[in-house]
Amino acid sequence: MTAHVLLESDEQQTLRRAVGDLARRYGPAYFRAKARAGQPVDELWAEAGKLGYLGVNLPAEYGGGGAGVTELSIVLEELGAAGCPLLMLIVSPAICGTVIARFGTEEQKRQWLPGLADGSRRMAFGITEPDAGSNSHRISTVARRDGDDWLLSGRKVFISGIDHADAVLFVGRTEDARTGRLKPALFVVPRDTPGFEYTPIPMELTAPEKQFQVFLDDVRLPAEALVGDEDAGLLQLFAGLNPERIMTAAFTLGIARHALDTAVEYAKTRTVWDRPIGAHQGIAHPLAQCAVEVELARLMMRKAALLYDAGDDVAAGEAANMAKYAAGEASCRAVDQAVHTLGGNGLTQEYGLAALITATRVGRIAPVSREMILNYVAQHTLGLPRSY
Ligand SMILES: Cc1cc2nc3c(=O)[nH]c(=O)nc-3n(C[C@H](O)[C@H](O)[C@H](O)COP(=O)(O)OP(=O)(O)OC[C@H]3O[C@@H](n4cnc5c(N)ncnc54)[C@H](O)[C@@H]3O)c2cc1C
Repeated sequence: MTAHVLLESDEQQTLRRAVGDLARRYGPAYFRAKARAGQPVDELWAEAGKLGYLGVNLPAEYGGGGAGVTELSIVLEELGAAGCPLLMLIVSPAICGTVIARFGTEEQKRQWLPGLADGSRRMAFGITEPDAGSNSHRISTVARRDGDDWLLSGRKVFISGIDHADAVLFVGRTEDARTGRLKPALFVVPRDTPGFEYTPIPMELTAPEKQFQVFLDDVRLPAEALVGDEDAGLLQLFAGLNPERIMTAAFTLGIARHALDTAVEYAKTRTVWDRPIGAHQGIAHPLAQCAVEVELARLMMRKAALLYDAGDDVAAGEAANMAKYAAGEASCRAVDQAVHTLGGNGLTQEYGLAALITATRVGRIAPVSREMILNYVAQHTLGLPRSY
């Protein structure tokens, strides 16, 4: 899958190659060993940070690369294609970095962006709640004023990577907006703040990141913990959601490319009759079909990133949803076909493909499920009545 100069600049292609070179030095064996041990991939994270890859989208004046989500999605896709998909790239620089860069106070930008950019600091993101799930208008984490401080209380689930993050960007709602439509407010909560507790959720995922449930019990936060403006919360939240969808597409598409590459190499050499299994159309055609679908999803991801980086949040919203959907579907099919191509070896730890089944499955569920994207497209793109 070559990058054409009309779709990617020289700089973008150079970035793609350089990230691929770095990730291949670590490779799938390194990544799998860390994931199986439940350990973070700190060496790769630190090196990618030092080389400027993790903060490529963040403003140059705060230590970032001054480029866009296009470049950050290139970074994540190439890491995944080399067998090292770093989920926290979706969260730390893409969601939290974007929200702080676009809406944070000067002090918040200075405090967080240089560290998020060089990878020395990480921030997790918490919106999902046990009783709200896909319906984020129902979130009930509440922020109350107490003098100049805020007191934050509530519960969150499936929050990725808290144990390796310095802080979490939590989405709550202010007390006067307890009912009705969501009036979100975003707070940076350092991990060691009293009243903030988190426990891992046992997941059937083989990944360096864990998911946590969170209890926030009257967590006292200074006024400066609120990101930007109390009344601009919804705008701020949406600013982070488009990069999140684009990056989730990059995450799953990188994994899909890695799985397809593994399957193709295997099919070229594995011979059980008189020719390699890849010569059988029953093996070759499904792989070719997956390659087409993955490429189409990549193109949609490119469109979404282009629109987002050009500042068209509305058009980017539709494209980012479509790209996330297309990537989730294409990736699940590609990984499934890759596993099948390897026969029994598709399920061995040596090849590591089976773990990718659940990894790509994440792209169908999070950050917004397949059905919620279809609801969005039905309503906003097609103009059909709202169904829920
Ligand atoms: C590995 C992983 C990492 C995650 N990391 C984070 C994170 O870092 N931070 C964070 O905040 N969240 C995170 N999440 C949570 C994720 O965003 C949610 O799981 C997702 O939004 C779906 O919510 P839910 O699990 O409550 O499912 P539910 O909302 O309960 O939905 C269950 C099913 O019902 C369907 N459904 C619901 N409503 C409708 C409807 N109106 N029409 C049709 N179908 C519907 C859904 O599509 C889905 O298939 C993570 C999840 C996973 C699996």
